[in-house]
Amino acid sequence: MAHDNCQHLLADLSDYIDGEAADSVCAEIERHLADCADCRAVVDTLRKTIYLYRQLPQPTLPESARARLIAAFTFADASGS
Ligand SMILES: [Zn+2]
Repeated sequence: MAHDNCQHLLADLSDYIDGEAADSVCAEIERHLADCADCRAVVDTLRKTIYLYRQLPQPTLPESARARLIAAFTFADASGS
């Protein structure tokens, strides 16, 4: 069964990873992650990517990198059903 929530949650994932999402949003994402290996992989990848970027002398993760990750996941999700 496809996870219709995935793309909805992706919109909030960056806030969640940054610790800026509301508690209710965090709870919703964590509930979904418990049940969705695809999104767990995305969160894991995003966290590692953000961690690596923060080791560099750049203040923020470029939007282009974030968009690329989300686009890659969206493609994988669409082709995997
Ligand atoms: Zn998902």
